[in-house]
Amino acid sequence: MIESELRNSTTEEVVAELRRRSSFVMVSHVKPDGDTLGAGLALGIALRRMGKRVAYFQQDPVPRNLRFLPDTEFVARELPADLPPDTLFVFCDMSDYSRAGEFLPKIEREHMLDIDHHLGNSHFGAFNYVIPSECSTGTTVMHLLRGLGVEVDKAIATCILTTIMTDTGGFMHSNTSPEVLELSAELMRLGADKEQITEEIFANKRVAATRLLGRIVDEMQFAHDGRYCWSHVDDAMLAQTGADGEDTEDIVNTLRGQEGVEVAALFKAYDGEIRVSLRSNGRVNVQAAAATLGGGGHFRASGLTYVGSLDDAFAAVDRALVAQGL
Ligand code: AMP
Ligand code: MN
Ligand code: MN
Repeated sequence: MIESELRNSTTEEVVAELRRRSSFVMVSHVKPDGDTLGAGLALGIALRRMGKRVAYFQQDPVPRNLRFLPDTEFVARELPADLPPDTLFVFCDMSDYSRAGEFLPKIEREHMLDIDHHLGNSHFGAFNYVIPSECSTGTTVMHLLRGLGVEVDKAIATCILTTIMTDTGGFMHSNTSPEVLELSAELMRLGADKEQITEEIFANKRVAATRLLGRIVDEMQFAHDGRYCWSHVDDAMLAQTGADGEDTEDIVNTLRGQEGVEVAALFKAYDGEIRVSLRSNGRVNVQAAAATLGGGGHFRASGLTYVGSLDDAFAAVDRALVAQGL
């Protein structure tokens, strides 16, 4: 890869490109969360207000707890048949385009815009707007909305505040800077309903999800003098509790929250694959550990997909974490 391809585009360059194009497809990552979806919806709504044509591509369905977001009814797993040749594909919240899933047809690099805040983003687009110091991809999008001079209304404010609350864990993670709190206050004044977002994202748990939490907690294991906690969920545990994959999303944070635990891992072995979620209290870099196994993410929150047996996954992740100082 040549040096210039790794270069970030400036806000002005991205804004000019957004103005130049007439048609957009906002792309979310597989197993979507409030950041990938909220960021895409916020920018998509703004572009539609500017008279642009906007479609949404997401391989997996909109999770139950994100259906309150505006315009989610337009999110589809197919591309419209009649896309104009100047269509720009806007990838939100993914360190590589492969995170969009295998259903997305191949897209030429010149038609890709990569908006993200992950460490180790591969700068896969012709335009890359990657700011790892941002707490969410949504707050990264905010710079573009300001550059475009778009009025941030209730719908857009709700999407952006959802990205913040998702990626800061409800203002609890270390990425909750004073600036993030100030922006959140501004978004609330613009009409974003923090109570509704809290309720949808952090409450409203299905009973089956809480029963699954109980099963996963039952299976917790500890190593490295109690600094590492891990557990797993498999097809049988989902079947026994009536829960599904969406119900597993934030359980790894419960494991990390145990006394003395610095790093937690949840091994999600269902639907024919093993996905691993890693969380750190900030001493061990779990992004670096995940990256050695083909995954990625952030210093304190990362993930990977492991090909092999569950026992091999346990051993490989343990080794990768020890290599990072666990
Ligand atoms: P999760 O544990 O699924 O909530 O993911 C935590 C973080 O790791 C998020 O920022 C994800 O984007 C990232 N991540 C999860 N799985 C992968 C993967 N297979 N490859 C790259 N990044 C990932
Ligand atoms: Mn995400
Ligand atoms: Mn994110």
